[in-house]
Amino acid sequence: MSFKGKNALITGSARGLGKEMAMALAREGSNIIINDIEPMKEEALKTVEEIKKLGVESEFIAADVSDFESCKKMADAIKEKFKEVHILVNNAGITKDRTLKKMSPEEWYPVINVNLNSLFNVTRNVLEMIPDEGRIINISSLAGISGNFGQTNYASTKAGVIGFTKSLAKEVGKRKITVNAVAPGFIKSAMTDKIPLELLSNILQLIPLREIGQPEDVANAVKFLASDEAKYVSGTVIKVDGGVSF
Ligand code: NAD
Repeated sequence: MSFKGKNALITGSARGLGKEMAMALAREGSNIIINDIEPMKEEALKTVEEIKKLGVESEFIAADVSDFESCKKMADAIKEKFKEVHILVNNAGITKDRTLKKMSPEEWYPVINVNLNSLFNVTRNVLEMIPDEGRIINISSLAGISGNFGQTNYASTKAGVIGFTKSLAKEVGKRKITVNAVAPGFIKSAMTDKIPLELLSNILQLIPLREIGQPEDVANAVKFLASDEAKYVSGTVIKVDGGVSF
């Protein structure tokens, strides 16, 4: 894999899966732009330091991906410092779970704004910096394919991510830019750590591989899609879910 000299922007990467992706790409030699919201600055700067120890360049650029102007400022800052973005990973995401019957507008709109409108806000502003043969990878979810109880808001955004991915792949293919999505299932994270033990054992029964996925399982799929080896893979969704199908 040749990531040396490439620049990767990963949104929402101060912690969690985004950080894992950042570390995986940095280990291959890619420079990393960490994006997250301003309140995550301390954690983001720690991540930047960890990445720099791997011998690549890294910088934290705060921006709220749900806000178009904030993303425009981020793109301007990236242009000044890095000039090109070879790999863009739209990873930032939130949940505000509630059954639709009880869901409030405060639980619906922010999820749509952070998880889906962000793809427009970030990609629209960064696209002109993505050179030919660049890579765009969008993080969807099993919920976007199968739906999930209490997640009409979240699942709608993650299904939208797939529609965005397939459409943009058709638009930018002539420049040999690939656009793909990764749909993780149940992955060990702050979110899944909160699942009560009894519910967790029920979930495990639904997973053919009988275990929760690890953050590096998702990062490995992202790394493949970002690599030269994936040059003929575009407009597709890689499920990283231990074989779940329902
Ligand atoms: P996480 O909460 O640990 O990390 C998400 C990051 O996004 C945080 O650092 C957060 O501060 C940042 N963020 C939130 N709002 C933002 C905004 N407006 N602008 C910029 N950054 C913002 O979550 P995670 O588990 O690492 O999830 C990462 C992605 O993977 C999300 O898109 C999530 O939907 C998806 N996903 C996760 C799982 C899982 O099991 N963890 C499963 C399927 C999909």
